[in-house]
Parts: sequence; structure tokens; C-alpha cells
Amino acid sequence: MSEQSRQSQATERQGGRLIVLTGPTAVGKGTVETALRKAHPEVWVSVSATTRDPRPGERDGVNYWFISEPEFLRRQEAGEFLETAVVHGMAHYGTPLEPVREHLAGNVPTILEIDLQGARRVKERAKELGLDVVYVFIAPPSFDELKKRLIGRGTETPEQQAKRLETAKVELAAEPEFDVTIVNEQVDKAARDLWNVIAQEYGLPQDTD
Ligand code: 5GP
Repeated sequence: MSEQSRQSQATERQGGRLIVLTGPTAVGKGTVETALRKAHPEVWVSVSATTRDPRPGERDGVNYWFISEPEFLRRQEAGEFLETAVVHGMAHYGTPLEPVREHLAGNVPTILEIDLQGARRVKERAKELGLDVVYVFIAPPSFDELKKRLIGRGTETPEQQAKRLETAKVELAAEPEFDVTIVNEQVDKAARDLWNVIAQEYGLPQDTD
């Protein structure tokens, strides 16, 4: 597609396209997203709701919306979440739908940073909710590199590392399910690649090297 027809497609569309950022654990999705926000404060990243307690330094409305379980369940029942998950069999997490809709309607570049399961759930529901989505998969340069990063962190026991690497192998195989792959070899480059996907969708100028 030519740059011109891409731009006119982006302008003709009613509201923006939702950018779902996903990928294996430990691939650095959060780091890429932080670098993107620094370079482009005009992007909006969804803030999830959770029933877990805030950790020291976490702020309501910034890291998460911290809500009680009854309140979460009420909102879930009312259909106020785009997707939800129960993590470690304890806390509930969910993506509030209305702020996503509002930002898209205002043509604000809108990002959901979410794990693979969450991305798959968004995929299942997008059509029914009338959401136009582009799915971006963040990949490590190679499996060996992911292994090096995980071991280099030194935060897990060898057994935990082996388990996480097995999970990572399965997760890496999910890449073809998504629309675009960005290799996180160098964070600023990956953030620039991500911006260029967004810029293309929203008819905005691309970043060059
Ligand atoms: P944490 O409690 O450490 O901040 O997050 C625990 C897990 O919950 C992470 O794997 C994180 O990706 C996931 N998570 C956070 N928010 C959401 C959400 O809105 N939806 C889903 N599906 N998972 C989430």
C-alpha cells in the first residue's frame, strides 16, 4: 500500500485503531512501552483495574486502578471490561473498556500492553465490540538471547529459569497469530519501530533513524 493511500485510509476511519502490544514474558514489552511514551507522550496506554493491594510506590490511576473485589465483580457483571484475568488464582485484573473507546473516538493513539492470553481474549471479542485492532508481537532477537537475558537477571533459581524458558519457547511460537512483529534487540530502535506502526495507523509522521 502506498504511503498516501495508508494516510487517507487512516483519515477516513472513524476514530483510531487499537494497538495491542503483546509478547512472551521477559521480552521487555514494558521497557519498550516506557521508551515509546518518553519519545511520544501523545500516546495513551490503558490502565488496568486490579483487586490486589498496591505495592510501595504504586499509585492509583497510574500503575493500576486499585479496586475492591465486590466492585471488580460488579463492573465485570456490568460488562465494563474489555477482558479480565485471574492471576495466580488470587487477584483479578481487567482492562476497562470505556476509556479505550473514548481515546479511540478522539483519535488518540491507544495502546494495550497485555500478555498473550489477554491479547487472545481481545482477539475473540474485538469484532463483537466493534474494535479495529492491530496486534504487535514483541520478540527477542533469538531464543538464545532471551535465555541469556533471563539467566543474566539472576533473579530466579535454575529450576525456575528452566520452567520460564520452557514457557518462553511455547510463547514464542505464538508469533504468527499476530499482525506485526517487532524485534527487541535495542530498546530505542524497538520503540521507534512501534511508533512507526502507530504513525502508519494514525496517519502521523514516521520517526527516522
Ligand atoms: P502484577 O500484579 O505483577 O502487576 O501483574 C501480574 C500479572 O497480571 C502480569 O502478568 C500482568 O501482565 C497481568 N495483568 C495486569 N493487568 C492486566 C489486565 O488488565 N488484563 C490481563 N489479562 N492481565 C493483566
